[in-house]
Amino acid sequence: MSELVFDLHTHSTASDGSLSPTELVQRAAACGIGVLALTDHDQTAGLSEASGAAREAGIEFIQGIELSVSWSHQTIHIVGLGINPDCALLQAGIDRLTAFRHWRAEEIDRRLAKKGIHGALKGARDYAKGAILSRTHFAHYLVAQGHARDLRQVFKRFLVRNKPGYVPGEWASLEEVLSWIQEAGGLAVIAHPARYQISASRLRQLLGEFRELGGIGLEVVSGSHSRDDIISMANLSRRYELAASAGSDYHGPHNPYLDLGRLPSLPEECQPVWHHPAWQVSHSPG
Ligand code: AMP
Ligand code: MN
Ligand code: MN
Ligand code: MN
Repeated sequence: MSELVFDLHTHSTASDGSLSPTELVQRAAACGIGVLALTDHDQTAGLSEASGAAREAGIEFIQGIELSVSWSHQTIHIVGLGINPDCALLQAGIDRLTAFRHWRAEEIDRRLAKKGIHGALKGARDYAKGAILSRTHFAHYLVAQGHARDLRQVFKRFLVRNKPGYVPGEWASLEEVLSWIQEAGGLAVIAHPARYQISASRLRQLLGEFRELGGIGLEVVSGSHSRDDIISMANLSRRYELAASAGSDYHGPHNPYLDLGRLPSLPEECQPVWHHPAWQVSHSPG
């Protein structure tokens, strides 16, 4: 029997992905994925549809989320795996992050308008189609309006620190987000750790604090990690006794990140998060 393929980090139209939860699950199944987690940004709205589609498609489904954290003036993403979306504490946290996203979207709109770009909020809303508002939706609008060639370029020119459409702000704290994930029965994993613009010593500090707060995993294999990143993150996961996760961070067929089913395997020496003692209980229904 061939080995089960895991992808524990993906997005749908419930946040900034371009496939619906059903389309995502069907594509994952077609690409040979056996265990899929949907981890939309600060949102659980796609989980029930995806779960039904996974049952139809005959693949295992993990209810997940990717939560936005402000840690030491940086935005860090924490993936929660095997969460119960009905958890009241988690939903209260989601409401707070959603309110922040609304405020931030209005502020992005004001800042872009000052630079002569009008109608960005409406444009972003049209792309979001009722989903949680993300910078990606602004990016789609700005590309469509001819302000940049593609998503990558539009982020670089407008939506990152020191650029006209960037809005600094406070997401939730690391401690809060870990408590929401734990209360919801999930396992917390640091997303794409090699992508943060922080020094090696700050990253080690983050891992130490995360572990202290009950975090259990590190995304060693990510669609945005190079070969070297995978090796260095595998070393860090062992040093901090964190289990290793693997996720593509797939956002749809038109995104710069990796396609589904193409992730390299975890390095041999890693303890996969799906072998963690808490894994079995966390994702079984009921
Ligand atoms: P937000 O959570 O609304 O601040 O948006 C962050 C999202 O923007 C990330 O999850 C990515 O999907 C997307 N993103 C960030 N940087 C880039 C980039 N350079 N190119 C394309 N997408 C990006
Ligand atoms: Mn995204
Ligand atoms: Mn992320
Ligand atoms: Mn992601």
